[in-house]
Amino acid sequence: MRHLLLLLLICCAAGGYAKNPFAGVDMQFMRINISVDPEVQYIKGVATHHFGLKARQDRFLPVLLELSSELKVQSVIHGNKTLKFSHQGDSIIIFPQEVWGGNDSISVQYEGVPESSGFGSVEFSRYGNTPIFWTLSEPDGAKDWYPCRQVNTDKYDSVQVIVSCPERYRSASNGIIISDTINNGIRTTTWMHRHKIAFYLVAVAVSEYEVSQEYIHLNNGDSVLYVNYYFREQADQARKRASKLIPAFKMLCDTFGTYPFADEKYGQAQFRWSGGMENQTMTFLAGFGQSLMIHELAHQWFGNTITCSRWTDVWINEGFAEWCEGFAEEVGVGQNNDPVSWRRRKIYSAASKPLGSIYVRDTTDVWEIFDTRMTYDKGCMLLHMLRTELGDQMFFGLLKYYIKHSPYRFANASSQNFFNLVNDFSGKDYTWFFDQWYYGRGTPIYRILWEQNADNLLNIKIEQRRSDSSMAFFRAIVPIMIKGCNGESVFVRINNTDENQYFSFEPGFKVDNIVFDPYADIISWGSTTKEEKLSGNSSVKYHHEDSQIILTASNPKSYRHYLIQTFKHRTIQSGKVGSDGRVVIDLRRIPAGDYYIALEGDNSYFAKKITVSKKQK
Ligand SMILES: [Zn+2]
Repeated sequence: MRHLLLLLLICCAAGGYAKNPFAGVDMQFMRINISVDPEVQYIKGVATHHFGLKARQDRFLPVLLELSSELKVQSVIHGNKTLKFSHQGDSIIIFPQEVWGGNDSISVQYEGVPESSGFGSVEFSRYGNTPIFWTLSEPDGAKDWYPCRQVNTDKYDSVQVIVSCPERYRSASNGIIISDTINNGIRTTTWMHRHKIAFYLVAVAVSEYEVSQEYIHLNNGDSVLYVNYYFREQADQARKRASKLIPAFKMLCDTFGTYPFADEKYGQAQFRWSGGMENQTMTFLAGFGQSLMIHELAHQWFGNTITCSRWTDVWINEGFAEWCEGFAEEVGVGQNNDPVSWRRRKIYSAASKPLGSIYVRDTTDVWEIFDTRMTYDKGCMLLHMLRTELGDQMFFGLLKYYIKHSPYRFANASSQNFFNLVNDFSGKDYTWFFDQWYYGRGTPIYRILWEQNADNLLNIKIEQRRSDSSMAFFRAIVPIMIKGCNGESVFVRINNTDENQYFSFEPGFKVDNIVFDPYADIISWGSTTKEEKLSGNSSVKYHHEDSQIILTASNPKSYRHYLIQTFKHRTIQSGKVGSDGRVVIDLRRIPAGDYYIALEGDNSYFAKKITVSKKQK
């Protein structure tokens, strides 16, 4: 989901109920039969739930479903018998006739004037003179239009949605149309979806839609049916705009594996909400803006194929969908194809909530769950920074494994499930990373001081404060651009692991200034750089003679070990700095080529380029 404008703040009451008195059920197939005329605020429906019992001893216990108290339950049918039930508040308690079977089914017949909640869970509206009806169930508004179990982890195996409406209208829903008939002026369309689907991704819209369809031919040879439902007045323009999604569609398939519902279709239907909702195989959209279309399409993988386990974990849906939108900008299939400006806006937005965390602490407030600044903007930048930490090869390998092969596919994941996967996949412990960027609040704000000494050595000191002063130090890769007086520039990523760290480089030119984060890679707003006389830095003397290099630190305690690395960060030699602060390197043992030689300590870092020529061997 993505909302484009702030709407009225509507809070939902927390729904809580005891677990024990009810049967533990596992939802299987569901059929909803719904009759609606968009001009008349009234719905009539029958929802049939097939379910399995989790435990044999539960066969005597009532089944609990949720349905808004605004709707009246006419009957609950089991086979050809009616069952006793009670409908109090938004709960329907359904009692077995004697006992439930291990696999059983019930049909709930209901009707009434539905009342919308959350982001507008069930709406009757108009586009111009044209009436429209739609549902938007995320996060917990499905109960406002059909009896259901609002548990993210209990996905339906498959669903059938049968929509009856006056014949001039068309309905948009999940899966494919298996029949469409007109009788006595009523059009009845049967939609069938044969994949696992979470309760909030089932949806219906009804209006005088104009419909277009075509096939998207993927690079792997598959084709996917692409269907669009437009408001008639906008159809020509909308059709053109909808076709602009196709390059991004192919890109997502190439990156994360074929569209997960390729045997059915991908659809988009216009509605009158200010944003989009990724209903499975049938996104509802305010309009056909490219970035909005990409975001909702990305949800078909991230959110629908893998669904957040609870709303606390909504980042599993939104952070990833938003990141895909930025990735589309990067690879040239996005709206503006300007990934740096795109990320800069995300950083600005994330920093505008200086005490915020991605982790959602209060899931009773829908605006807290779907807070653009945190769940979306800080959330997608977390993934961007994880990409920097892991490197592209591991990052994309991880995402592909997660979406294509992990046990979370066609199921659910919590944020912590994903973090554990990152640790397992990389073989490293990134707990510190998620603690500070996901659970932790606020952002680091840097003050980068620099001076260039007579030997052309550039000394940098990184100071950090936090937008939330209660947060401890943020460990991060700090990107800077070093700019020379004659137009030279070099991009450097500094691994800032401690307060007030010193770094020394030899850029090879006279430095004019330093630019913080030129490519918008880190969540930090308001960071500054300044040329300033630095004290407290330990200088390193460099001496090269014949076949050896001697480095001597003025303060022997500043540095602990040294590394010689290729420009691709492959370490070819490492060792300890002597207690006298000296390192002696025998160049005859190093293959000819260009390297960095680095000294590292808790608070200091020194690096210098060296060239080893064949002659020295
Ligand atoms: Zn979304």
